[in-house]
Amino acid sequence: MTELHRELHDIYDEVARRNPGEVEFHQAVYEVLNSLGPVVEKHPDYVDTAVIRRLCEPERQIIFRVPWFDDSGTVQINRGFRVEFNSALGPFKGGLRFHPSVYLGIVKFLGFEQIFKNSLTGLPIGGAKGGSDFDPKGRSDGEIMRFCQSFMTELYRHLGEYTDVPAGDIGVGMREIGYLFGQYKRITNRYESGVFTGKGLTWGGSQVRTEATGYGTVFFVDEILRAEGQSFDGKKVVVSGSGNVAIYAIEKVHALGGSVVACSDSSGYVYDEKGIDLELLKEVKESRRGRIADYVEARRGTAHLVTSRSVWEVACDIALPCATQNELGGDDADMLIDSGCRIVAEGANMPCTPEAVKRFDAAGVTFAPGKAANAGGVATSALEMQQNASRDSWTFEDTEARLAEIMRRIHDRCLSTAEEYGQPGNYAAGANIAGFIRVADAMLALGLV
Ligand code: NDP
Repeated sequence: MTELHRELHDIYDEVARRNPGEVEFHQAVYEVLNSLGPVVEKHPDYVDTAVIRRLCEPERQIIFRVPWFDDSGTVQINRGFRVEFNSALGPFKGGLRFHPSVYLGIVKFLGFEQIFKNSLTGLPIGGAKGGSDFDPKGRSDGEIMRFCQSFMTELYRHLGEYTDVPAGDIGVGMREIGYLFGQYKRITNRYESGVFTGKGLTWGGSQVRTEATGYGTVFFVDEILRAEGQSFDGKKVVVSGSGNVAIYAIEKVHALGGSVVACSDSSGYVYDEKGIDLELLKEVKESRRGRIADYVEARRGTAHLVTSRSVWEVACDIALPCATQNELGGDDADMLIDSGCRIVAEGANMPCTPEAVKRFDAAGVTFAPGKAANAGGVATSALEMQQNASRDSWTFEDTEARLAEIMRRIHDRCLSTAEEYGQPGNYAAGANIAGFIRVADAMLALGLV
């Protein structure tokens, strides 16, 4: 780890002391503070007014019991979370994650990242995140519904289209959003479309929301390539994960002329020399909710399953980690660098460890951080909120064009801010600084709240 600016160091120490054991949260805070040295040199008032310290403390944290009956009639108990981190720019906004690894430190890291990501979009949305340690894998549809209903029976009182607007994340897709929204509607007796994003198209959802995070990540990389006078044409790409973000990243890479030759899930990775067959992957993952091994079996011959090693051993020009936090470490970075990879863009939140990012920087690999590269999901959620507020719905083409334009602006904002603060070409610094300044200025304007 690099040494922090003195005053930022004190703030980091305070965060680590007040939030013991929350290692992912510490990592996310350190990563942002690490970029802010030049900002506090230029504007010491951000330290004097305690705006950075306030940013590191969530406005509200909700932890609750989620009891539900499984199919055998046994009572199951999970823990639910919602961390409403910052609402200086708009209502709290951020997804819900259902995964057994979820605990307060994960929710806080994601909520903290969300503040800067949402700020960077230029749209009026604050930052939040939530979820549960519930594991949806292998659960029946009825169990998923009963869990979602119980979860919402507590959470509904904290939500509202002007208060807090959740969406999906790992383990929470359109099916879960449907059950959650249905229970909210039932309890409140209000068809408040704007309280959730990621809804189905026939009940208030937006075109392109399903595709937005993956498409947005690829649009961001396209901007990087364009700035270098290149394109996706003929580029070999490796994607990790095979969920929502990964699938639509693959779709857009193929549409732009690149070829994704490997993707993964938590049981291993598939290498497909002819390029991933997206229709088959969608059928296996979206319709059947199957495993990556099912894809290999159905592909008959051209694809290989590897369960004992990392997907990052596959040679590529561009790597898109789209699975989960800290999935790409220092050794993985070395393999990518050695195989000639030139661009790494985070479709997932914080998938690259600090050591991996350090090695990419040292090797001159362009690194696009998640809070910029995967902001297309939340940006399109904000477009969904706009359509709900005006009781309107836009076409796929119109919505996709807006998404592409938002990603272009985020890309340019990162570059120009990095340049202004003496770190040309450093997307991570540009994203952190630009995201920070917009939200910090709003906090200063709103007084000590
Ligand atoms: P999904 O649940 O749809 O997919 C997650 C994928 O990642 C699955 O293929 C899953 O495999 C894999 N995965 C999860 N945990 C691990 C692990 N420990 N090791 C290896 N693979 C793993 O989630 P999303 O695609 O929605 O989210 C992926 C990432 O993108 C997350 O970091 C999320 O926070 C981020 N993100 C998502 C947005 C969205 O709009 N959905 C917006 C912005 C960021 P398996 O099925 O085997 O668990």
